[in-house]
Amino acid sequence: MAPTSHKTPPPELDTAADRSSAAPPTMPSFDDSHRTTDELLHLADAHLFKNYRPASVVFVRGQGSTLEDTEGRKYLDFAAGVAVNALGHAHPRLVRAISEQAARLMHVSNYFFNEENVLLAAELCERTGFDRAFFCNSGGEANEAMLKLARRHFYAKGDKSRYRVIAFENSFHGRTIATVNLTGTPAYREGFGPVLEGVTHVPYGDLDAVSAAMGPDVCGIFVETVQGEGGVLPAPPGFLAGLRALADEHGSLLLVDEVQTGMGRTGSLLGFERSGIRPDAISLAKGLGGGFPIGAMLVPERLGGALPPGTHGSTFGGNPLASAAARAVLAALYDDKLIEGARAKGAILGKRLAEIAAKHPDLCEGERGEGLLRGLIMKKGVDGRAALATVREEGVLLTVAGGRVLRFTPPLIITEAEIEDACVRVDRAISKLRIESIAAG
Ligand code: PLP
Repeated sequence: MAPTSHKTPPPELDTAADRSSAAPPTMPSFDDSHRTTDELLHLADAHLFKNYRPASVVFVRGQGSTLEDTEGRKYLDFAAGVAVNALGHAHPRLVRAISEQAARLMHVSNYFFNEENVLLAAELCERTGFDRAFFCNSGGEANEAMLKLARRHFYAKGDKSRYRVIAFENSFHGRTIATVNLTGTPAYREGFGPVLEGVTHVPYGDLDAVSAAMGPDVCGIFVETVQGEGGVLPAPPGFLAGLRALADEHGSLLLVDEVQTGMGRTGSLLGFERSGIRPDAISLAKGLGGGFPIGAMLVPERLGGALPPGTHGSTFGGNPLASAAARAVLAALYDDKLIEGARAKGAILGKRLAEIAAKHPDLCEGERGEGLLRGLIMKKGVDGRAALATVREEGVLLTVAGGRVLRFTPPLIITEAEIEDACVRVDRAISKLRIESIAAG
């Protein structure tokens, strides 16, 4: 799948005639006539809020693990919408579930039950061993729910001073005001007002530091099983078990953020499963809807009443359309053995990334990760974003985590041949990066 040249767009996507007859970029006519890449980029520049820094690529369609842009260029999608598109793009089962549900019932609100949501809750509980599910629309919201759950649980028991949360340096839990305060990188909360009271950050992996920070005022320990955004850092062996023991010793809850690690990505349905522990609550999003927005918090029965009616909710949470999408994803994960596949294919990807790192010791430090959540660690001083752009020029989409880790989160339907193809391209991109850095002196 050699990327098509920018200069030879396929006629159905972009023609000179289109360009000459099109309206000026900042004055769109609201019809459905085709727009060129330049026009779209101009409109984006003029009208989209500037809180992101996207590459100058506009995508128009996807199929399997491949995305296609307005210029007809095809890319192997090893970003998968930041660990979201578990079934890749245009997966027939997901497309059918969403289309049929959209034609049947899209939204009713939480004043009533809806069939798809009730079934999703039951299926998720059956698969995970939790008893109750709260639904929302994103990972940040799922984590907000988990924080509210922990505080409100103790409040309801009369323990009103138990509101402090232990969270970890380098963690990522979302962009809402509460979740940037849980997030362990201070830059994410800079300028957003007073720090949320009652969050203590300690180094990830350091049980002594957690132990020292614990106390009778701690309601919960908030942790990722692999720090995804922080640079694909798996929890050290024994860390999650140690947290479980500390939470039990001090009577607090263990709250696991499975937004990035959940839904099979790390080679088990949930990231914590291989550690032998059970958290008191987990948050899910990303892969849960396979690209359709949905988040969830799962809890055991004993916490099922911690947020009674009136204390929490979401207008769109648990809507039939999102629920149908998540049911289709869950079914495909098991029917198509995608979780075992993530483990096996993750091992193959990890081995290839280790080979690439060994081949470029001047630019790469190594690889790490679990299942299909993996990182190629670049050396200090390598500009992660520049590396990303070079890899993209070779037709592979990745993301950067922790500043200098090239993060690989392909769809779980990725094939071994696609992994090999992507690795050949990444290897070539890194060679190019070296030549460019030598040229730059
Ligand atoms: N938690 C983790 C571990 C994440 O990786 C993310 C997003 O990257 C979030 C929470 C926030 O999810 P969302 O962007 O859906 O709010």
